[in-house]
Amino acid sequence: MDYATFVEVYDRLSSTSKKIEKIGILAEFLKRLQKEESSEWIYLLRGKVTPDYDSRELGISTQLTLKAMSASFGVSQEKIIADFNEAGDIGEIAERYSQKRRQRALFMKKLDVKKVFDNLKMIISIEGKGAVDRKISLISELLTSAAPKEAKYIVRTLLSDLRVGVADALLIDAIAEAFFVNEDDAKQVLEEKYHLANDFSLLFDAARKGMLALGEIDLVPGRPVSVMLAVKADTLEEAFRICGTPAAAEYKYDGFRMLINKRGEDITLFTRRLENVTSQFPDVVSAARKYISAKEYVLDAEVVGYDLKTKKYLPFEAISQRIKRKYDIDKLAKTLPVEINIFDVLYHDGKNTLDTPYLERRKIVEKIVKTQALVIRPAVQKIVEDEEEAEVFYQSALDEGEEGIMMKKLDAPYRQGRKVGYMVKIKPTIADLDLVIVGAEYGTGKRGGWLTSYIVACKDGEEFLEIGKVSSGLKEKKENDGQETTYEEMTKLLRPLIISEKDNQIRVRPEIVIAVTYQNIQESPSYSSEYALRFPRITRYRPDKKPDEIATLSEIKKEVKKQR
Ligand code: AMP
Repeated sequence: MDYATFVEVYDRLSSTSKKIEKIGILAEFLKRLQKEESSEWIYLLRGKVTPDYDSRELGISTQLTLKAMSASFGVSQEKIIADFNEAGDIGEIAERYSQKRRQRALFMKKLDVKKVFDNLKMIISIEGKGAVDRKISLISELLTSAAPKEAKYIVRTLLSDLRVGVADALLIDAIAEAFFVNEDDAKQVLEEKYHLANDFSLLFDAARKGMLALGEIDLVPGRPVSVMLAVKADTLEEAFRICGTPAAAEYKYDGFRMLINKRGEDITLFTRRLENVTSQFPDVVSAARKYISAKEYVLDAEVVGYDLKTKKYLPFEAISQRIKRKYDIDKLAKTLPVEINIFDVLYHDGKNTLDTPYLERRKIVEKIVKTQALVIRPAVQKIVEDEEEAEVFYQSALDEGEEGIMMKKLDAPYRQGRKVGYMVKIKPTIADLDLVIVGAEYGTGKRGGWLTSYIVACKDGEEFLEIGKVSSGLKEKKENDGQETTYEEMTKLLRPLIISEKDNQIRVRPEIVIAVTYQNIQESPSYSSEYALRFPRITRYRPDKKPDEIATLSEIKKEVKKQR
C-alpha cells in the first residue's frame, strides 16, 4: 500500500470535525487495510508505531526533526526556525520545502507504508552511541522520497502531533462499524477487549475474524492492562449513595499505583501508565516472590514510600524519583524503601477475576498476601454500615497520614477505566485539580531561560480546553529534601514536547499533568473552557497521571456550582 493512501485518509479526517463522518472514513479504510500485509499499520492512524502499552513514544524532539529537515531539504536550521516561528506548524513547513524540491526532482519512486512504518519503528528502538545520526538518516531517507503532503504527515507523526483527531474511542467505534454492523453490543465488547489488550493491532486482527476471535482476547499476566479508576465523592453520604450500603472503606495511600504480574517464574511491574518498572523496583519483586503465594497473578497495589528513620509515610514526590531511575537502583531501594499495599486482584491462577465480585476478590488478596510489616500487606479495609462508622475510619486514615479513603461497592466487578458506581475517593478538599500543560512562557530576570508560566487545560471528551495560566508553586532551586519540582526541571520536561514556538511562548503536546489549587473558578471568555482559575498555584507535578485522567469540564462545572 502506498503511504499516499494513508495521507489521503489523514486529509479527509482533518477536513471534518463530525464524529460520525470520521467513523465512516475510518471504517471504510479499515476494510481496505485488513487485506494488507500488517495489521500493525493501524497504529499509524493514531500517529504511532507501537501498541499503546509500549511506553516508547515517537515524539522525537523538535530539535532533531529540524536537523533532519535541514539535511533532507538543504535548508539551514536558522531558516527553518524562522519559518517555524512564523507558521507555528513544522508539518506545514516540511510540506512547503518538499514542494520546492519536488519541482526539481519529478520522477521519484512512490513511498510505501511499509517503508514509513519500518523506519519510524527503527527510530524508537535506536539507543546509545551514534543514535542521533542514525535517527536523522532514517528520517532523511523518508523525507527525501516523500511527496509534499507525505512529508507533512511524516513530520507530524515524528512529533506525535498528527492533528487528525483519532482518539482511541473513535477508532473503536470505527472497528465496530467496519466489522460488526448490526451487532449492537459489539462496541462494548470491543471497548472491554481494548482495555485488556491495549493494542489496536491485536484488536483489529481479532475483529476482522469475528466475534469468536474477539472473545478470545483475555488478560495475560505480564502484558500491561489498564486499571480501574475512581470517581470523586464530596461527602460520605454521596459515597454511600454511589457504592450502596454497606460498602468497603479502604485507606487511600498516597503513593503510586503498581500492577504486580507473575507468569511462570517471571514477575513484572507496571505503572498505571503501562510503563514497565520491574528493574527499578527489585525490592518489590523480591517481596512479591517471598510473600505472595500464588502461581500466577495480576495484583493491583499502591506502593508508598516511608522514612527510614521515623517509619512515617512520605508523600508521593519522595519516591517518584525511583520510577525513572536507571542507575544506583539497589542503593535507592535501601534509602527510599516502599511498602506495598495490595487492594485488588485481576487474575489468579489461570483465571481472570474481573467479573468476580469485589468482596470475593478481596478474600483472594487476603488469602495469598502474607502481611510483613512495612513491606507488603493487603490495604487496610473495613466494611462500613453507616456514615458514622465511615467517619471514624476516615479519621483514622487521616491520623495515620493517609490521603483519605476509597469506598468500594461490595458486589462490583473490576472494570477498566472510570466506571461510575464501583469505587469512589474521598479526601479533604484543598480544592485542587489535575490539569495538563498545553503551553508555556519563558520567564525573565532571574527566571530567564526557564519556562515559568504554564497554560493548563481540562478535558472535554477528546478535547483539551484551556482554563488558566499558572506560574507559582514550583521552586527556583532545590530545598530541604530535594523532592520538590523546580522550574528548571519542568523546563526540561516540556522542551522535548514543543510543537510550536512564537516569541517567548511555546505550545506543547499535552503530556505533563500537574495538580493546581486555586481560590475560585470564574466564567471567562479568555479561555476555551470558558472558565478561568483565580489565583492558581501548582501543588505538585503528577508524573503518574495520563492526560486522559485529568479533570473534566463537567467536574469543573460541578465545582463552580458548589461555589455558588
Ligand atoms: P486519584 O489519584 O486522586 O484519582 O485517586 C485514585 C488513586 O488512588 C488510584 O489510582 C490509586 O493509585 C490510589 N489508591 C490509593 N489507595 C487505594 C486503594 N485502597 N484502592 C484503590 N486505589 C487506591
